[in-house]
Amino acid sequence: MHHRTVKGTSVSPGLAIGPVHVVLARPEKVPEWSVSQVGLAPELQRLAEAVQAADADLERRQIQIRSEVGEKDAEIFAVHRTVLQDPRALKEVESTIVEQRVNAEKAVMGLIERFEKTMGRLEGNYNRSYAADFSDPWYCVLDALLRRDRQAIVSSGEKVILAAAELTPQVVTYLERDRILGVIAEVGGRFSHGAVLGRSLGVPCVVGLPNLLARLEQGLLVAVDGSQGTVQFRPEKKDIDDFLDRRAKVEERRAALKEFAAEPAVTPDGQALTVRVNIESVRDLDTFEIEHTDGVGLLRTEFLYLERSQFPSEEEQFRLYRRVLERMNGKPVLIRTLDIGGDKPLPYFTTPKETNPALGWRGIRISLEWRDLLQVQLRALLRASVHGNLRILLPMVTSLEEVTMTHEIFDDVRRLLVEQGYEVAMEVPVGIMIEVPSALMMIEKLIDHVDFAAVGTNDLVQYLLAVDRDNSLVSKLYDPQHPAVIQALDRIAQAARRAGKSCSVCGEFAGDPASAVLLLGLGYDSISISPQFLPDVKFAVRMMEFGHAQKYAKQALGASTVNEVHDVLDAIRTDLYDQPLSEDCGALK
Ligand code: PEP
Ligand code: MG
Repeated sequence: MHHRTVKGTSVSPGLAIGPVHVVLARPEKVPEWSVSQVGLAPELQRLAEAVQAADADLERRQIQIRSEVGEKDAEIFAVHRTVLQDPRALKEVESTIVEQRVNAEKAVMGLIERFEKTMGRLEGNYNRSYAADFSDPWYCVLDALLRRDRQAIVSSGEKVILAAAELTPQVVTYLERDRILGVIAEVGGRFSHGAVLGRSLGVPCVVGLPNLLARLEQGLLVAVDGSQGTVQFRPEKKDIDDFLDRRAKVEERRAALKEFAAEPAVTPDGQALTVRVNIESVRDLDTFEIEHTDGVGLLRTEFLYLERSQFPSEEEQFRLYRRVLERMNGKPVLIRTLDIGGDKPLPYFTTPKETNPALGWRGIRISLEWRDLLQVQLRALLRASVHGNLRILLPMVTSLEEVTMTHEIFDDVRRLLVEQGYEVAMEVPVGIMIEVPSALMMIEKLIDHVDFAAVGTNDLVQYLLAVDRDNSLVSKLYDPQHPAVIQALDRIAQAARRAGKSCSVCGEFAGDPASAVLLLGLGYDSISISPQFLPDVKFAVRMMEFGHAQKYAKQALGASTVNEVHDVLDAIRTDLYDQPLSEDCGALK
């Protein structure tokens, strides 16, 4: 069992190998003992020192994140410190010690259990993380009381792979950044605070690993592939050699390709593909060179909302959008309106519990029902529009009615802004995400009412194939290379071309070089990908004749099975990487 490789969910890419250190595993059983009358004062003193130690630790994390990532991300630790400073909670623990004559560990655990029970009784999606915000700082106190082996690991200086029950901000910052090789966790949403921090810090992270902690012991060697979402336990010498070899090749290749990343993505026979980046926050702008991209193809604004404790104001949003537009210096920036719900619940926005959130209240549905939310966002966007090349993208569109309604709101907001004396760009194109089967089936009609379309393959695949994108039980079935997806992509590209509208693909699928070539062959004029894939994808386009890309697209369209599509992509890979590499593309392989 120990040599097994298990598949989880990829949260942050990268390869890491090293000894595991289990953190914040909830203690199985907190030791408890009685405290005598004379022992009470020293016990209270022990508690005070542990609270102080926990606060100092949280402050260290706050400072680290502020300097490495930014003030906004550090805020969560400020919140946790405030929780610790709440005199009522401390009083409750002290009273338990004094009245029940029990040790501090037992009293702190009592408080944590009360928090978790109270929060657990409340209805709503946000309670899990909300409860964690209250209990995590007190777990730090418990850690300090138990003086768990953190001391040893901190002084050893060893680099480790952190393993935890849940991917939280505490886990990702458990040690200094350069001591953390990777993070693996039993649970943790792709969009949780922990996941966002993990990505920002560039730590390979994998979640969705049930019973992980039960399989681990401190120091066990594991190999983590953050891109594939896999973890290998106790790799043997050969596995380690292969892994290190692969990592060295990836790094070497990345460095070589980066040299040429500013070159445009144009095939040798002159067909250009616009390659933009997907970003989730302003700080993501620092993860790539502006010259390497043709703009921002998707700014997921929900992160501006997810990473805070209340709705951002119009002014705050305006400043953020303006910063992105100014930074991109006239290159197109596609900003998507709020796409919460489904797998992205807002911690401060209580929505009814849904049995099937992916098919529930999310995306544009929320914006159209909670109009003031949309109006505030559109006001901020339109005010920012004079500072760059803005395009607005609407998520999860399922009908023409939704497009028409949004246009009406958009026109009203624009009119009011102009009346109020604000300057607004003359042209702000509005496009839609195609990521739901009904939008796919209506594409020929919808496209006439919008300025452009962007295909969200992440969702389109899950809805088309009826496979939850975040459910590890069915992850093998989640395959963008299903022939149905290829047919869908073809239909969308054709409809857009006939209507003379631009159409991009901004789901993860486009970040794979061979898939990008296939999309080019299908007739897409634009893709938007995670910044880290820019050099590879642009290189692939520069290596491939457009005629060949079209030939591969035709083959993929003729496929009846997933395997046949896989074969086409493999043929593209062979074609890409087996030909001699020209000087101006860089020596690779
Ligand atoms: C998609 O669905 O492909 C997409 C780009 O949007 P998100 O991943 O944010 O749902
Ligand atoms: Mg989507």
